Amino acid sequence: MDHVTSRPSASQADQSRHAWAESGVENLGAGVYRIPLPLPGDSLRAVNVYAIAGDDGVDLIDAGMALEQARERLTESLGQLGYGLGDIRNFFITHIHQDHYTLAVQLRTTLGGKITLGEGERINMQAIRNVEAGRNELGFIEMLAAMGAPELADQVRGFLAAGLGSRQRRLQWSDPDHWLGDGAQLDLRSRTLRAIHTPGHTRGHVVFHDEAAAVLFAGDHVLPHITPSVGFQPAINKLALRDYLGSLRLMLTLPDSRLLPAHGPVCESTHTRVNELLAHHETRLEQTLAAASAGPVTALQAAGAIPWTRRQREFAGLDPMSQVLAIGETAAHLEVLVIRGQLVRHTSPEGVDTYKLPVG
Ligand SMILES: [Zn+2]
Repeated sequence: MDHVTSRPSASQADQSRHAWAESGVENLGAGVYRIPLPLPGDSLRAVNVYAIAGDDGVDLIDAGMALEQARERLTESLGQLGYGLGDIRNFFITHIHQDHYTLAVQLRTTLGGKITLGEGERINMQAIRNVEAGRNELGFIEMLAAMGAPELADQVRGFLAAGLGSRQRRLQWSDPDHWLGDGAQLDLRSRTLRAIHTPGHTRGHVVFHDEAAAVLFAGDHVLPHITPSVGFQPAINKLALRDYLGSLRLMLTLPDSRLLPAHGPVCESTHTRVNELLAHHETRLEQTLAAASAGPVTALQAAGAIPWTRRQREFAGLDPMSQVLAIGETAAHLEVLVIRGQLVRHTSPEGVDTYKLPVG
């Protein structure tokens, strides 16, 4: 969901806000390049792939989405740096979402690059397999009934029915070559990266920290313009926001670093942005608590009572996929309020969760 904040209302502000997504290669110095790859039709606009140049090849942080336009853009951009797609040694992927992972899988079928993904994503990969085999639904759809939104679940099932289960899909979701553990060191000769498990956005999200250069390849964990969704993933995790807030605080225990995000421009301070994100979630927790204080509410009802996006829109005006994200966000906030003892949850015999203030 977009960061909820006041904004300058000029269209110029909007234009410069999206300048990062324009095609090209940004030289960040010391052999690191930012290459935004297109995400047509997606409000995110683009995903940043970071190329780390070496003498005998190039390593990529994230890979983009398996789309013809993205593949072409990557080919062109690496060409400007003197590399071909065959020179990619490693795809270090921050998390399993398709805009980060799937182009790596597609390229690997004909080229030699090896794919690395955080081992916490195994459970999401298994959930995708279960969905493909018809054993399960995607977690974020399955959860909607408990959140009081079975009609929305039906609507989204309709959208997704077409795409799932095709051969193309199965190809894009094949396993990585390496599952990466928390703290693993990646020796790229020119630099050493440490993988740090940062669950929240997804269960197995990792960031790559270059301590010597004071650089953090943050994936979707810390984004400069928007607040990453939490728990929008195949395998259900009710405690996604608790995990996410813990992973944000973890970033404050590292030295302040340059922030290289997967969506948005490069920024100078991870700590500044992490503190903004923590403050944002405290505000959302207060708003969510207020929405639940009048009596038992479902996540759907609470979501309907709080403003959405940085434009402060009403829930009812959001498109169905944004509503799914909004309800998931709200449920995640409600669960943190339960952990903090500020709300109690009751689950009905039908499995619907409602939240209210503790009595007495
Ligand atoms: Zn992303």
